[in-house]
Amino acid sequence: MGSKKTFTMIKPDAVSAGNSGAIIKMIEDHGFVVNAMKLTQLTTVQAGLFYEIHKEKTFYNDLVEYMSGGPIIPMILGKDNAVEDFRALIGSTNPAEAAEGTIRKLFATSISANAIHGSDSNENALIEGNFFFSNLERMK
Ligand code: UDP
Ligand code: MG
Repeated sequence: MGSKKTFTMIKPDAVSAGNSGAIIKMIEDHGFVVNAMKLTQLTTVQAGLFYEIHKEKTFYNDLVEYMSGGPIIPMILGKDNAVEDFRALIGSTNPAEAAEGTIRKLFATSISANAIHGSDSNENALIEGNFFFSNLERMK
């Protein structure tokens, strides 16, 4: 049994396409419990900070622009083995390589507009959850 919690956000492309409900339904159907959720929008400064780990990458400026370009839905999710199981549920970064039945296969339109984020480690799940939610907003 691995981690108990992970962090996700439904990205602007999926929110604006009206896919939030279908994505949340898939998440819940796969055994994840929504512990915290809100609709918000990042400033370019906030998006730059969230993706700071990628600041040397060629796609960084476009990523910051895209992630601050519309509303997003960040969530903290609970489940046994949450981080690993959620990365499996969302699929590969590039939807062309994502497995059938994954969220990115179903809803992503490109490697950049790829519908959803999922934390890649327990440490980052905690950091990223704290980035969006206060102690009071987190349910447990
Ligand atoms: N991204 C991009 N072009 C790339 C690789 C990544 O625009 O060639 C974007 C994409 O939105 C991705 C995010 O940057 O989800 C973070 O990249 P990472 O490699 O961490 O992928 P993830 O962990 O989201 O699968
Ligand atoms: Mg990543």
